[in-house]
Amino acid sequence: MSSAMNNLDLHDLGVAQLAAKLAAREVSSVEVTQHFLARIRQHDHLGAFLATDATVSLAQAGAADARLALGERTPLLGVPLAHKDVFVTRDFPTTAGSKMLENYRSPFDATVVSRLGVAAGGAGMVTLGKLNCDEFAMGSGNDNSAYQPVHNPWDLSRVPGGSSGGSAAAVAARLLPAATGTDTGGSIRQPAALTGITGIKPTYGRCSRYGMVAFASSLDQAGPLARSALDCALLLSAMAGPDPDRDSTSLDLPAVDYATDLIAASARGTGATALKGLQGLRIGLPTQFFGAGCAPDVLAAVRGALAEFEKLGATLVDVSLPLTELSIPVYYVIAPAEASSNLSRFDGVRYGHRAAHYGDLTDMYKKSRSEGFGLEATRRIMIGTYVLSHGYYDAYYLKAQKIRRLIAQDFQTAFAQCDVIAGPVSPTVAWKIGEKSDDPVANYLADIYTLSSSLAGLPGMSVPAGFGAHGMPVGLQLIGNYFKEAQLLGAAHQFQLATDWHQRKPGSAT
Ligand code: GLN
Repeated sequence: MSSAMNNLDLHDLGVAQLAAKLAAREVSSVEVTQHFLARIRQHDHLGAFLATDATVSLAQAGAADARLALGERTPLLGVPLAHKDVFVTRDFPTTAGSKMLENYRSPFDATVVSRLGVAAGGAGMVTLGKLNCDEFAMGSGNDNSAYQPVHNPWDLSRVPGGSSGGSAAAVAARLLPAATGTDTGGSIRQPAALTGITGIKPTYGRCSRYGMVAFASSLDQAGPLARSALDCALLLSAMAGPDPDRDSTSLDLPAVDYATDLIAASARGTGATALKGLQGLRIGLPTQFFGAGCAPDVLAAVRGALAEFEKLGATLVDVSLPLTELSIPVYYVIAPAEASSNLSRFDGVRYGHRAAHYGDLTDMYKKSRSEGFGLEATRRIMIGTYVLSHGYYDAYYLKAQKIRRLIAQDFQTAFAQCDVIAGPVSPTVAWKIGEKSDDPVANYLADIYTLSSSLAGLPGMSVPAGFGAHGMPVGLQLIGNYFKEAQLLGAAHQFQLATDWHQRKPGSAT
Protein backbone atom coordinates (compact mmCIF):
# COMPACT_ATOMS: atom_id res chain seq x y z
CA MET A 1 0.00 0.00 0.00
CA SER A 2 2.67 2.48 1.02
CA SER A 3 5.22 1.55 -1.61
CA ALA A 4 3.55 3.83 -4.15
CA MET A 5 3.73 6.92 -1.95
CA ASN A 6 6.49 8.89 -0.42
CA ASN A 7 6.17 8.45 3.32
CA LEU A 8 8.71 11.20 3.90
CA ASP A 9 6.04 13.76 3.03
CA LEU A 10 3.42 12.47 5.44
CA HIS A 11 4.41 14.84 8.22
CA ASP A 12 3.80 17.88 6.03
CA LEU A 13 0.15 16.93 5.69
CA GLY A 14 -2.46 18.46 7.95
CA VAL A 15 -5.30 16.65 9.69
CA ALA A 16 -7.76 16.98 6.79
CA GLN A 17 -5.21 15.82 4.20
CA LEU A 18 -4.06 12.86 6.27
CA ALA A 19 -7.66 11.84 6.92
CA ALA A 20 -8.32 11.89 3.16
CA LYS A 21 -5.31 9.67 2.47
CA LEU A 22 -6.39 7.26 5.18
CA ALA A 23 -9.96 7.19 3.90
CA ALA A 24 -8.70 6.49 0.35
CA ARG A 25 -6.59 3.67 1.89
CA GLU A 26 -3.45 5.08 0.29
CA VAL A 27 -1.74 4.66 3.61
CA SER A 28 -2.68 2.85 6.81
CA SER A 29 -2.95 4.35 10.26
CA VAL A 30 -0.21 1.98 11.43
CA GLU A 31 2.12 3.35 8.74
CA VAL A 32 1.25 6.94 9.60
CA THR A 33 1.79 6.22 13.29
CA GLN A 34 5.18 4.59 12.66
CA HIS A 35 6.24 7.56 10.57
CA PHE A 36 5.37 10.12 13.24
CA LEU A 37 6.84 8.06 16.08
CA ALA A 38 10.14 7.97 14.16
CA ARG A 39 10.00 11.76 13.74
CA ILE A 40 9.33 12.22 17.44
CA ARG A 41 12.43 10.14 18.24
CA GLN A 42 14.51 12.19 15.77
CA HIS A 43 13.40 15.46 17.41
CA ASP A 44 13.95 14.50 21.02
CA HIS A 45 16.10 17.64 21.46
CA LEU A 46 12.95 19.80 21.29
CA GLY A 47 11.85 18.42 24.66
CA ALA A 48 8.24 18.42 23.49
CA PHE A 49 7.22 14.96 24.72
CA LEU A 50 7.06 13.66 28.28
CA ALA A 51 5.83 10.18 27.33
CA THR A 52 5.47 7.97 24.28
CA ASP A 53 4.62 4.29 24.03
CA ALA A 54 4.90 2.76 20.57
CA THR A 55 3.10 -0.42 21.61
CA VAL A 56 0.04 1.51 22.81
CA SER A 57 0.00 3.87 19.81
CA LEU A 58 0.37 1.08 17.26
CA ALA A 59 -2.41 -0.93 18.91
CA GLN A 60 -4.68 2.15 18.65
CA ALA A 61 -3.66 2.59 15.00
CA GLY A 62 -4.52 -1.07 14.37
CA ALA A 63 -7.99 -0.45 15.85
CA ALA A 64 -8.43 2.58 13.59
CA ASP A 65 -7.34 0.55 10.56
CA ALA A 66 -9.90 -2.11 11.43
CA ARG A 67 -12.63 0.55 11.45
CA LEU A 68 -11.38 1.91 8.11
CA ALA A 69 -11.38 -1.61 6.67
CA LEU A 70 -15.03 -1.95 7.66
CA GLY A 71 -15.81 1.14 5.59
CA GLU A 72 -16.14 3.74 8.36
CA ARG A 73 -15.30 7.22 7.03
CA THR A 74 -15.44 9.65 9.96
CA PRO A 75 -13.33 12.82 9.59
CA LEU A 76 -10.53 12.07 12.08
CA LEU A 77 -10.32 8.31 11.90
CA GLY A 78 -6.74 7.04 12.10
CA VAL A 79 -5.10 10.49 12.30
CA PRO A 80 -2.50 10.83 15.09
CA LEU A 81 -2.37 13.48 17.81
CA ALA A 82 -0.95 13.88 21.31
CA HIS A 83 -2.33 15.38 24.48
CA LYS A 84 -0.99 18.08 26.74
CA ASP A 85 0.07 16.32 29.91
CA VAL A 86 -2.72 17.87 31.99
CA PHE A 87 -5.32 15.61 30.34
CA VAL A 88 -5.47 12.36 32.28
CA THR A 89 -5.00 9.22 30.20
CA ARG A 90 -5.34 5.59 31.11
CA ASP A 91 -2.76 4.38 28.60
CA PHE A 92 0.00 6.92 29.31
CA PRO A 93 1.31 8.50 32.52
CA THR A 94 0.02 11.99 33.45
CA THR A 95 2.37 14.38 35.25
CA ALA A 96 0.96 17.86 34.60
CA GLY A 97 4.63 18.81 34.16
CA SER A 98 5.15 18.33 37.91
CA LYS A 99 7.35 16.07 40.05
CA MET A 100 4.29 15.89 42.28
CA LEU A 101 2.67 13.50 39.78
CA GLU A 102 5.78 11.68 38.58
CA ASN A 103 4.73 8.17 37.45
CA TYR A 104 1.04 8.90 38.09
CA ARG A 105 -1.40 6.77 36.07
CA SER A 106 -5.02 7.76 35.90
CA PRO A 107 -7.63 5.02 36.10
CA PHE A 108 -9.73 6.85 33.46
CA ASP A 109 -9.47 9.07 30.38
CA ALA A 110 -10.43 12.76 30.34
CA THR A 111 -13.64 13.41 28.38
CA VAL A 112 -11.72 15.25 25.64
CA VAL A 113 -9.32 12.30 25.36
CA SER A 114 -12.08 9.72 25.04
CA ARG A 115 -14.05 11.85 22.57
CA LEU A 116 -11.03 12.06 20.28
CA GLY A 117 -9.71 8.53 20.83
CA VAL A 118 -10.19 5.08 19.28
CA ALA A 119 -12.35 3.56 22.03
CA ALA A 120 -16.05 3.06 21.32
CA GLY A 121 -17.83 6.33 20.61
CA GLY A 122 -14.57 8.22 19.95
CA ALA A 123 -13.50 9.99 16.76
CA GLY A 124 -10.78 7.38 16.18
CA MET A 125 -7.60 9.47 16.57
CA VAL A 126 -4.40 7.69 17.58
CA THR A 127 -2.57 9.02 20.64
CA LEU A 128 1.19 9.35 20.13
CA GLY A 129 1.93 10.37 23.71
CA LYS A 130 1.85 13.16 26.26
CA LEU A 131 3.18 16.65 25.67
CA ASN A 132 5.37 18.75 27.92
CA CYS A 133 3.87 21.82 29.61
CA ASP A 134 4.51 24.26 32.41
CA GLU A 135 3.91 22.73 35.84
CA PHE A 136 0.14 22.60 36.41
CA ALA A 137 -0.17 24.83 33.29
CA MET A 138 1.35 27.80 35.16
CA GLY A 139 3.62 29.75 32.88
CA SER A 140 4.19 31.53 29.58
CA GLY A 141 7.42 29.96 28.32
CA ASN A 142 7.27 26.27 29.15
CA ASP A 143 10.34 26.87 31.32
CA ASN A 144 8.34 25.94 34.43
CA SER A 145 8.16 22.26 33.49
CA ALA A 146 9.70 20.13 36.24
CA TYR A 147 11.19 17.85 33.57
CA GLN A 148 12.79 19.87 30.78
CA PRO A 149 12.27 23.13 28.94
CA VAL A 150 10.71 22.95 25.46
CA HIS A 151 12.63 24.53 22.58
CA ASN A 152 11.00 26.63 19.87
CA PRO A 153 11.55 24.87 16.51
CA TRP A 154 12.09 28.26 14.82
CA ASP A 155 15.07 29.00 17.07
CA LEU A 156 16.13 26.36 19.56
CA SER A 157 17.49 28.97 21.97
CA ARG A 158 14.00 30.50 22.38
CA VAL A 159 10.88 29.47 24.31
CA PRO A 160 7.89 28.03 22.43
CA GLY A 161 5.50 29.93 24.72
CA GLY A 162 3.45 28.30 27.41
CA SER A 163 1.91 26.64 29.09
CA SER A 164 1.00 24.36 26.13
CA GLY A 165 4.56 24.71 24.78
CA GLY A 166 5.07 21.02 24.05
CA SER A 167 1.85 20.92 22.03
CA ALA A 168 2.81 23.99 20.01
CA ALA A 169 6.44 22.99 19.38
CA ALA A 170 5.43 19.47 18.30
CA VAL A 171 2.82 20.74 15.82
CA ALA A 172 5.15 23.43 14.43
CA ALA A 173 7.98 20.91 13.99
CA ARG A 174 5.65 18.47 12.19
CA LEU A 175 6.00 15.80 14.89
CA LEU A 176 2.23 15.42 14.61
CA PRO A 177 -0.56 17.23 12.72
CA ALA A 178 -2.48 18.39 15.81
CA ALA A 179 -2.48 18.38 19.59
CA THR A 180 -4.70 19.29 22.50
CA GLY A 181 -3.93 22.15 24.83
CA THR A 182 -5.54 24.04 27.66
CA ASP A 183 -5.96 27.76 28.06
CA THR A 184 -6.52 29.41 31.42
CA GLY A 185 -5.10 32.82 30.59
CA GLY A 186 -3.65 32.33 27.11
CA SER A 187 -1.94 28.94 27.10
CA ILE A 188 -3.31 27.82 23.73
CA ARG A 189 -3.21 31.17 21.93
CA GLN A 190 0.21 32.38 23.09
CA PRO A 191 2.29 29.25 22.28
CA ALA A 192 0.42 28.97 18.95
CA ALA A 193 1.45 32.56 18.19
CA LEU A 194 5.06 32.08 19.24
CA THR A 195 5.51 28.95 17.08
CA GLY A 196 3.54 30.07 14.01
CA ILE A 197 0.59 27.67 14.26
CA THR A 198 -3.18 28.01 14.75
CA GLY A 199 -5.00 27.46 18.04
CA ILE A 200 -8.43 28.14 19.47
CA LYS A 201 -9.64 28.48 23.03
CA PRO A 202 -13.42 28.01 22.90
CA THR A 203 -16.02 29.72 25.06
CA TYR A 204 -15.64 28.69 28.70
CA GLY A 205 -17.64 25.48 29.11
CA ARG A 206 -17.64 24.47 25.45
CA CYS A 207 -15.35 21.49 26.17
CA SER A 208 -15.67 19.34 29.25
CA ARG A 209 -13.04 19.88 31.95
CA TYR A 210 -13.54 16.35 33.27
CA GLY A 211 -10.12 14.76 33.57
CA MET A 212 -8.15 17.98 33.06
CA VAL A 213 -5.82 18.48 36.04
CA ALA A 214 -7.41 21.63 37.46
CA PHE A 215 -5.48 24.91 37.65
CA ALA A 216 -8.12 27.66 37.91
CA SER A 217 -11.51 26.04 37.44
CA SER A 218 -13.46 29.16 36.46
CA LEU A 219 -10.97 29.85 33.63
CA ASP A 220 -9.60 26.49 32.42
CA GLN A 221 -10.71 25.48 28.93
CA ALA A 222 -9.51 22.82 26.48
CA GLY A 223 -8.90 23.43 22.80
CA PRO A 224 -6.97 22.24 19.75
CA LEU A 225 -3.65 23.38 18.27
CA ALA A 226 -3.00 22.57 14.63
CA ARG A 227 -1.53 24.25 11.59
CA SER A 228 -4.77 25.53 10.05
CA ALA A 229 -8.17 26.79 11.14
CA LEU A 230 -9.77 23.92 9.23
CA ASP A 231 -7.78 21.35 11.21
CA CYS A 232 -8.70 23.11 14.47
CA ALA A 233 -12.36 23.02 13.37
CA LEU A 234 -12.18 19.28 12.73
CA LEU A 235 -10.77 18.62 16.18
CA LEU A 236 -13.03 21.04 18.03
CA SER A 237 -16.11 19.44 16.46
CA ALA A 238 -15.13 16.18 18.19
CA MET A 239 -13.92 17.70 21.48
CA ALA A 240 -16.82 20.04 22.25
CA GLY A 241 -20.22 19.25 23.65
CA PRO A 242 -22.03 18.93 26.96
CA ASP A 243 -20.85 16.49 29.64
CA PRO A 244 -23.60 17.00 32.22
CA ASP A 245 -22.80 14.02 34.44
CA ARG A 246 -19.13 14.88 34.79
CA ASP A 247 -18.67 18.64 34.42
CA SER A 248 -21.53 20.79 35.63
CA THR A 249 -19.98 23.87 33.99
CA SER A 250 -19.97 22.29 30.52
CA LEU A 251 -22.37 24.21 28.30
CA ASP A 252 -25.70 22.61 27.58
CA LEU A 253 -25.47 23.33 23.85
CA PRO A 254 -25.65 20.71 21.10
CA ALA A 255 -22.43 19.61 19.41
CA VAL A 256 -21.52 21.78 16.42
CA ASP A 257 -19.93 20.76 13.13
CA TYR A 258 -17.37 23.53 12.71
CA ALA A 259 -15.71 22.08 9.61
CA THR A 260 -18.38 21.69 6.90
CA ASP A 261 -18.77 25.41 6.17
CA LEU A 262 -15.00 25.78 5.99
CA ILE A 263 -14.67 22.89 3.55
CA ALA A 264 -17.37 24.52 1.39
CA ALA A 265 -15.43 27.80 1.47
CA SER A 266 -12.28 25.96 0.35
CA ALA A 267 -14.23 24.44 -2.54
CA ARG A 268 -15.22 27.92 -3.69
CA GLY A 269 -11.50 28.61 -3.75
CA THR A 270 -9.78 31.95 -3.78
CA GLY A 271 -11.49 33.21 -6.92
CA ALA A 272 -13.35 36.48 -7.32
CA THR A 273 -16.36 35.52 -5.17
CA ALA A 274 -14.32 34.05 -2.35
CA LEU A 275 -12.09 37.12 -2.28
CA LYS A 276 -14.92 38.96 -0.55
CA GLY A 277 -15.61 36.06 1.78
CA LEU A 278 -15.59 38.37 4.79
CA GLN A 279 -17.90 41.03 3.35
CA GLY A 280 -19.74 42.78 6.15
CA LEU A 281 -17.55 41.47 8.98
CA ARG A 282 -16.78 44.30 11.42
CA ILE A 283 -13.43 43.81 13.17
CA GLY A 284 -12.96 45.86 16.34
CA LEU A 285 -9.46 47.02 17.22
CA PRO A 286 -9.15 47.87 20.92
CA THR A 287 -6.95 50.96 21.24
CA GLN A 288 -5.39 49.40 24.35
CA PHE A 289 -4.07 46.47 22.25
CA PHE A 290 -2.24 48.74 19.80
CA GLY A 291 -0.36 51.02 22.20
CA ALA A 292 3.24 51.47 23.23
CA GLY A 293 3.27 48.19 25.19
CA CYS A 294 3.42 46.16 21.98
CA ALA A 295 6.70 45.71 20.13
CA PRO A 296 6.76 47.50 16.74
CA ASP A 297 7.65 44.34 14.79
CA VAL A 298 4.62 42.53 16.25
CA LEU A 299 2.34 45.49 15.51
CA ALA A 300 3.60 45.66 11.92
CA ALA A 301 2.79 41.99 11.29
CA VAL A 302 -0.63 42.32 12.93
CA ARG A 303 -1.47 45.41 10.88
CA GLY A 304 -0.35 43.60 7.73
CA ALA A 305 -2.74 40.75 8.52
CA LEU A 306 -5.56 43.18 9.20
CA ALA A 307 -5.00 44.82 5.82
CA GLU A 308 -5.52 41.36 4.31
CA PHE A 309 -8.82 41.03 6.20
CA GLU A 310 -9.88 44.36 4.69
CA LYS A 311 -9.11 43.04 1.21
CA LEU A 312 -11.40 40.13 2.01
CA GLY A 313 -14.23 42.57 2.65
CA ALA A 314 -14.00 43.14 6.42
CA THR A 315 -14.15 46.63 7.88
CA LEU A 316 -11.97 47.79 10.76
CA VAL A 317 -13.47 49.86 13.59
CA ASP A 318 -11.85 51.28 16.70
CA VAL A 319 -13.20 50.00 20.00
CA SER A 320 -12.11 50.40 23.60
CA LEU A 321 -11.46 47.88 26.36
CA PRO A 322 -10.57 50.39 29.07
CA LEU A 323 -9.82 47.86 31.83
CA THR A 324 -7.28 45.84 29.82
CA GLU A 325 -4.41 46.83 32.13
CA LEU A 326 -6.28 45.59 35.18
CA SER A 327 -6.65 42.12 33.68
CA ILE A 328 -3.13 41.28 34.88
CA PRO A 329 -3.63 41.98 38.61
CA VAL A 330 -7.18 40.59 38.49
CA TYR A 331 -6.08 37.34 36.84
CA TYR A 332 -3.07 36.97 39.11
CA VAL A 333 -5.36 37.17 42.14
CA ILE A 334 -8.18 34.92 40.89
CA ALA A 335 -6.08 32.22 39.18
CA PRO A 336 -3.75 31.67 42.19
CA ALA A 337 -6.76 31.73 44.56
CA GLU A 338 -8.39 28.89 42.65
CA ALA A 339 -5.05 27.12 42.20
CA SER A 340 -4.35 27.16 45.94
CA SER A 341 -7.64 25.35 46.47
CA ASN A 342 -7.24 22.92 43.55
CA LEU A 343 -3.67 21.98 44.48
CA SER A 344 -4.57 21.14 48.08
CA ARG A 345 -5.37 17.58 46.97
CA PHE A 346 -1.66 16.98 46.27
CA ASP A 347 -0.71 16.18 49.84
CA GLY A 348 1.09 12.87 49.49
CA VAL A 349 -2.00 11.04 50.81
CA ARG A 350 -4.86 11.65 48.41
CA TYR A 351 -2.60 12.35 45.46
CA GLY A 352 1.02 12.92 44.65
CA HIS A 353 4.55 12.56 45.83
CA ARG A 354 5.15 11.54 49.45
CA ALA A 355 8.44 12.40 51.16
CA ALA A 356 10.59 9.40 52.02
CA HIS A 357 11.53 10.70 55.47
CA TYR A 358 9.34 12.72 57.83
CA GLY A 359 8.42 13.12 61.49
CA ASP A 360 4.75 13.57 62.33
CA LEU A 361 1.75 14.01 60.01
CA THR A 362 2.19 17.77 59.61
CA ASP A 363 5.83 17.25 58.79
CA MET A 364 4.86 14.68 56.16
CA TYR A 365 2.52 17.17 54.45
CA LYS A 366 5.14 19.90 54.60
CA LYS A 367 7.99 17.82 53.24
CA SER A 368 5.88 16.10 50.56
CA ARG A 369 4.50 19.36 49.22
CA SER A 370 7.85 21.21 49.43
CA GLU A 371 9.57 18.44 47.51
CA GLY A 372 6.80 17.88 44.97
CA PHE A 373 5.93 21.43 43.89
CA GLY A 374 8.25 23.64 41.87
CA LEU A 375 8.88 27.33 42.47
CA GLU A 376 6.02 28.83 40.43
CA ALA A 377 3.38 26.44 41.78
CA THR A 378 4.58 27.20 45.32
CA ARG A 379 4.47 30.94 44.65
CA ARG A 380 0.88 30.71 43.40
CA ILE A 381 -0.25 28.56 46.32
CA MET A 382 1.14 31.20 48.68
CA ILE A 383 -0.41 34.14 46.80
CA GLY A 384 -3.72 32.31 46.51
CA THR A 385 -3.84 31.35 50.16
CA TYR A 386 -3.04 34.93 51.13
CA VAL A 387 -5.71 36.60 48.98
CA LEU A 388 -8.34 34.16 50.26
CA SER A 389 -7.39 34.56 53.90
CA HIS A 390 -9.62 36.26 56.46
CA GLY A 391 -8.92 39.99 56.39
CA TYR A 392 -7.59 40.05 52.83
CA TYR A 393 -10.44 38.28 51.03
CA ASP A 394 -12.50 41.47 50.59
CA ALA A 395 -9.52 43.61 49.66
CA TYR A 396 -8.13 41.27 46.99
CA TYR A 397 -10.28 38.32 45.97
CA LEU A 398 -13.69 39.98 46.15
CA LYS A 399 -12.38 43.14 44.51
CA ALA A 400 -10.85 41.10 41.69
CA GLN A 401 -14.17 39.31 41.12
CA LYS A 402 -15.95 42.67 40.81
CA ILE A 403 -13.44 43.97 38.27
CA ARG A 404 -13.71 40.67 36.40
CA ARG A 405 -17.40 41.40 35.90
CA LEU A 406 -16.61 44.91 34.62
CA ILE A 407 -14.04 43.50 32.18
CA ALA A 408 -16.72 41.15 30.79
CA GLN A 409 -19.13 44.10 30.45
CA ASP A 410 -16.55 46.12 28.51
CA PHE A 411 -16.42 43.34 25.92
CA GLN A 412 -20.19 43.47 25.50
CA THR A 413 -20.00 47.24 24.95
CA ALA A 414 -17.33 46.64 22.30
CA PHE A 415 -19.34 43.88 20.63
CA ALA A 416 -22.18 46.36 20.10
CA GLN A 417 -19.86 48.00 17.53
CA CYS A 418 -18.17 44.96 15.98
CA ASP A 419 -18.49 41.22 15.35
CA VAL A 420 -14.96 40.12 16.14
CA ILE A 421 -12.14 41.79 18.10
CA ALA A 422 -8.58 41.59 16.80
CA GLY A 423 -5.11 42.42 18.06
CA PRO A 424 -1.78 40.87 18.93
CA VAL A 425 -1.56 37.69 21.03
CA SER A 426 1.78 38.43 22.64
CA PRO A 427 3.49 41.83 22.95
CA THR A 428 6.78 40.37 21.66
CA VAL A 429 8.02 37.41 19.64
CA ALA A 430 9.40 34.39 21.54
CA TRP A 431 12.13 35.32 24.00
CA LYS A 432 15.32 33.45 24.89
CA ILE A 433 15.05 30.46 27.21
CA GLY A 434 16.05 31.66 30.67
CA GLU A 435 15.52 35.35 29.88
CA LYS A 436 12.50 35.70 32.17
CA SER A 437 13.02 32.69 34.41
CA ASP A 438 14.02 34.73 37.47
CA ASP A 439 11.35 37.36 36.98
CA PRO A 440 7.80 36.12 37.46
CA VAL A 441 6.30 39.58 36.90
CA ALA A 442 7.97 39.84 33.46
CA ASN A 443 6.21 36.59 32.57
CA TYR A 444 2.87 37.84 33.91
CA LEU A 445 3.09 41.08 31.89
CA ALA A 446 3.51 39.11 28.66
CA ASP A 447 -0.07 37.82 29.15
CA ILE A 448 -1.62 41.28 28.76
CA TYR A 449 -3.55 40.60 25.52
CA THR A 450 -4.92 37.16 26.39
CA LEU A 451 -6.06 37.50 30.01
CA SER A 452 -9.06 39.80 29.59
CA SER A 453 -10.95 37.49 27.23
CA SER A 454 -10.16 34.54 29.51
CA LEU A 455 -11.59 36.42 32.49
CA ALA A 456 -14.71 37.15 30.42
CA GLY A 457 -14.96 33.49 29.29
CA LEU A 458 -14.91 34.46 25.60
CA PRO A 459 -13.55 32.34 22.74
CA GLY A 460 -10.20 33.43 21.29
CA MET A 461 -7.92 32.30 18.56
CA SER A 462 -4.37 32.75 17.35
CA VAL A 463 -3.71 32.80 13.61
CA PRO A 464 -0.22 32.95 12.03
CA ALA A 465 0.18 36.53 10.75
CA GLY A 466 3.77 36.83 9.59
CA PHE A 467 7.17 37.23 11.16
CA GLY A 468 8.80 39.76 13.46
CA ALA A 469 12.20 40.32 15.04
CA HIS A 470 14.79 37.52 14.62
CA GLY A 471 12.55 35.90 11.97
CA MET A 472 10.22 34.64 14.70
CA PRO A 473 6.48 34.05 14.05
CA VAL A 474 3.77 36.52 15.09
CA GLY A 475 0.16 35.58 15.84
CA LEU A 476 -2.98 37.60 15.21
CA GLN A 477 -5.57 37.22 17.95
CA LEU A 478 -9.26 37.02 17.08
CA ILE A 479 -11.71 37.23 19.99
CA GLY A 480 -15.38 36.39 19.46
CA ASN A 481 -18.52 36.85 21.48
CA TYR A 482 -19.84 33.89 23.51
CA PHE A 483 -20.44 30.70 21.47
CA LYS A 484 -19.06 32.30 18.28
CA GLU A 485 -16.29 29.77 17.65
CA ALA A 486 -17.69 29.09 14.16
CA GLN A 487 -17.39 32.76 13.24
CA LEU A 488 -13.76 32.91 14.44
CA LEU A 489 -12.81 29.73 12.60
CA GLY A 490 -14.60 30.94 9.46
CA ALA A 491 -12.78 34.28 9.46
CA ALA A 492 -9.42 32.61 10.11
CA HIS A 493 -10.07 30.09 7.34
CA GLN A 494 -10.84 32.82 4.78
CA PHE A 495 -7.60 34.53 5.80
CA GLN A 496 -5.70 31.26 5.40
CA LEU A 497 -7.18 30.67 1.95
CA ALA A 498 -5.69 34.01 0.92
CA THR A 499 -2.33 33.79 2.75
CA ASP A 500 0.28 31.14 3.43
CA TRP A 501 1.76 32.20 6.78
CA HIS A 502 0.30 29.06 8.36
CA GLN A 503 2.12 26.85 5.85
CA ARG A 504 5.61 28.21 6.58
CA LYS A 505 7.76 25.73 8.37
CA PRO A 506 10.79 26.11 10.58
CA GLY A 507 14.14 24.99 9.17
CA SER A 508 14.44 22.47 11.97
CA ALA A 509 11.23 20.76 10.80
CA THR A 510 12.61 19.35 7.58
N1 GLN B 1 0.55 32.46 31.43
C1 GLN B 1 -0.62 32.35 32.24
C2 GLN B 1 -0.26 31.82 33.60
O1 GLN B 1 0.89 31.64 33.85
C3 GLN B 1 -1.66 31.49 31.57
C4 GLN B 1 -1.43 30.04 31.73
C5 GLN B 1 -2.53 29.21 31.14
O2 GLN B 1 -3.33 29.69 30.34
N2 GLN B 1 -2.60 27.97 31.56
O3 GLN B 1 -1.08 31.61 34.42
